[in-house]
Amino acid sequence: MGLLIVGSVALDTIETPYDKIDNALGGSTTYISVASSYFTDPVDIIGVVGDDFDEAHIKMLKRHNIGMDGLQIIKGGKTFRWGGRYHENFNVRDTLFTDLNVFETFDPKIPENLRNAEYVVLGNIHPALQMNVLDQMNDPEFIVCDTMNLWIDISKNELLEVIKRVDILIINDSEAQMLSGEPNIIKAAKMIQDMGPEYLIIKKGEHGALLFGDDNIFSAPAFPMFNVFDPTGAGDTFAGGFAGYLHKKKDLSFESMKQAVIYGSTLASFCVEKFSTKGIEDLPKEKIYERFTAFRDLSRFEDGQL
Ligand code: AMP
Repeated sequence: MGLLIVGSVALDTIETPYDKIDNALGGSTTYISVASSYFTDPVDIIGVVGDDFDEAHIKMLKRHNIGMDGLQIIKGGKTFRWGGRYHENFNVRDTLFTDLNVFETFDPKIPENLRNAEYVVLGNIHPALQMNVLDQMNDPEFIVCDTMNLWIDISKNELLEVIKRVDILIINDSEAQMLSGEPNIIKAAKMIQDMGPEYLIIKKGEHGALLFGDDNIFSAPAFPMFNVFDPTGAGDTFAGGFAGYLHKKKDLSFESMKQAVIYGSTLASFCVEKFSTKGIEDLPKEKIYERFTAFRDLSRFEDGQL
């Protein structure tokens, strides 16, 4: 069985220093599923939208072979909407609005045939919903969890319960500091692993990512980008590339996780090049592999014995 993804499916309004777009396709599930679809199948999503959700978005997801038996379409309902504005250097983002709409009463129902999925990716949604999904699953082999500062702020105890049950948590550096109360990232990582997850990825935005596990640390570089157009969804895309590659490879060794981190970073680097999901909608596999090798060359060096 396959890879099951739960999270938000959204219509985003995004303002960057260069441009603005209204009601563009977004949401954590959307980015995760499209990114993972380049590596593996079957990929299925659990989510909710209103009947204002454009058929063209459904077609795009179908084109990526993404199973939608678990996508509820609520008649007369409005799709979840989120608005964000980026500052000049893209490092700071203000949330302009979060309209939950159909998400307010979302009750995820996992169809019987998807309860045996081997891998589950819990995209960024309320931890109570993440837990609800885990409770319906039949003992998945590998559980990946993403979250955000909002949930650490307002639902920390529920988030801690979810974290206890997951194999790997993916968060950014400021969230790791917030969750652990420890400013040193390496100490924070150890404290978070003690909360449950055997593995941990700490993303450092435009400075790469760190993978912790098996008493090892792997430092992945960030791809040097000339043109960042819209960073929305880069974190989710990273999680999708990471989980999709691991699911395909069926190998959970630290070495294979290192490759998965680079594939996650590769897909994220394509994501930021265009608005919304456009940067990851039409990627030839050769282009993905070419950038994977460019990542490898960025930090590979010969032995320099003294
Ligand atoms: P990222 O840039 O990786 O943080 O992800 C951005 C995506 O997360 C956007 O497409 C939003 O629609 C979605 N998003 C933002 N806030 C929330 C929230 N509170 N719950 C679920 N999804 C959200």
